[in-house]
Amino acid sequence: MMPRHTLQDLPLANAFCDELPGDSEPLNRSRQVHNACYSRVQPQFFADAKLIAVSPEVLALLDLDANVVADPAFTRLLSGSELLPAMQPYACCYGGHQFGHWAGQLGDGRAINLGEVITATSGSQTLQLKGSGPTPYSRNADGYAVLRSSIREFLCSEAMYHLGVPTTRALSLLLSGETVMRDMLYDGHPEREPGAIVCRVAPSFLRFGSYEIFASRGDKARLQQLVDFTIKHHFADLYPAAQREVSQESYLRWFARVCDSTLTLILHWMRVGFVHGVMNTDNMSILGLTIDYGPYGWIDNFDLNWTPNTTDAQFHRYAYGKQAEIALWNLYQLANAVHLLVPAAAELGAILRQTERQYQQLWPAMVATKLGITHYQAADRPLIDALITLLSQSEIDMTLFFRHLGLVTCEGEAVPPPLLAAYYQPLIPEAQTALAAWLQSYRQRLRQQPENDAQRCQRMWQVNPQYVLRNYLAQQAIDLAHQGDYSEIERLLTLLKQPYREQPGMQDYTAKRPDWARQRVGCSMLSCSS
Ligand code: AMP
Ligand code: MG
Repeated sequence: MMPRHTLQDLPLANAFCDELPGDSEPLNRSRQVHNACYSRVQPQFFADAKLIAVSPEVLALLDLDANVVADPAFTRLLSGSELLPAMQPYACCYGGHQFGHWAGQLGDGRAINLGEVITATSGSQTLQLKGSGPTPYSRNADGYAVLRSSIREFLCSEAMYHLGVPTTRALSLLLSGETVMRDMLYDGHPEREPGAIVCRVAPSFLRFGSYEIFASRGDKARLQQLVDFTIKHHFADLYPAAQREVSQESYLRWFARVCDSTLTLILHWMRVGFVHGVMNTDNMSILGLTIDYGPYGWIDNFDLNWTPNTTDAQFHRYAYGKQAEIALWNLYQLANAVHLLVPAAAELGAILRQTERQYQQLWPAMVATKLGITHYQAADRPLIDALITLLSQSEIDMTLFFRHLGLVTCEGEAVPPPLLAAYYQPLIPEAQTALAAWLQSYRQRLRQQPENDAQRCQRMWQVNPQYVLRNYLAQQAIDLAHQGDYSEIERLLTLLKQPYREQPGMQDYTAKRPDWARQRVGCSMLSCSS
């Protein structure tokens, strides 16, 4: 076992600030910041902050001793009120395309980075407080975050990790001890809500927008510095030996890697039924991590056109089924930025087209793994397309349907009763016929595979989760937390550590969305207000 650290002997570094250009103006006021990757800024002091949840796995990731949680210095650190002596907090400058339009400078408007922890086995991990007060990038917002959105970010980061989906992590969730004014639905009803702070953890929080901002300003020197830094620290095998410049070929290979990891990310989202909700380029991680949990949601009934984001209700730009197309659009924006550094537009274009082709092949192959098909072939495509049609024609719970599909037997004709339980409405005769017909083709395909039903089911249950952070489950934890009861946060955190394993006594958490949650704010409708 690795030795665990206390806060006092935690190995820290500040490579981001040491190696990249910083803002020369020290004043913490909203403004445009030029020629800099970051601005130094102190988090706000919260005298009454209270720790309400911690992820033990992230403590371990950081080599922190579990007892550290009881140390009041831990709460002071994670509320931003008293940092460790070696920490030099800063907010990053970035821009972004929001809903298809260039939005100019955005930046860490309510996130403050504390620096890097050098871990024994997981490289360097940046700690970032979200909701800890204003920065030069706050524009006209307040720099705070509310409890409801912080609970959602805390729980979902950890749930995604345990599902095997690349993500930023969450170490802690704190009440700031102050209230924040929010108009939750932007309909003229502002209310005071409890403020909260999440400590996020990732090897890097760089986004596509971090590069776009310099390209938009024609600042090739800063762009190059940032790309070189990214390659040096996060794509080290592409970084040249001492004294040599990063080659054009390495830039292209780096861009291809970013395309690859983004593609992998989207395939995971599609597999587990996650809808990010705000895939603006400022919310696209350069490492292909799920980042910035805002009005995200989980698919209950399978619907490619579903978005949880009320701000996107009109165009459904960021709907479940559009995520690959949008990721590609975002990669085009990144390519446009990288182009300032890499004149070879044809090569960049070729990488983008290759990424698109790959998705066309990998998406059905991913669905095939959910069906337990071991060797996907082009001939399986009609079976997959027919399934998508079937799932879209009735209201069918995605998680339950795929999980229960594992109970189908090769022989026999019967529809396994649990599969019927995935339907939100009683089956009309047409739907019954469609399901039976599809199951017949499915069984035919399964019979080509030399394995028994139990083996196949076991494999399928490794990619089809039993438990996901259903929108209404998160909302129940939020409702209780607003009454001062944080036990449901803890229960969900524990449950979602083993999303692929049946857990005794937890049947309630596999139930499909109850009727009351269908149209309830927070369950199926979320705004960007957080
Ligand atoms: P998001 O939609 O959460 O990705 O945020 C888009 C931009 O708005 C980012 O630059 C955020 O830092 C900023 N932002 C969002 N909420 C706040 C807030 N309450 N205070 C300051 N900046 C914010
Ligand atoms: Mg964001």
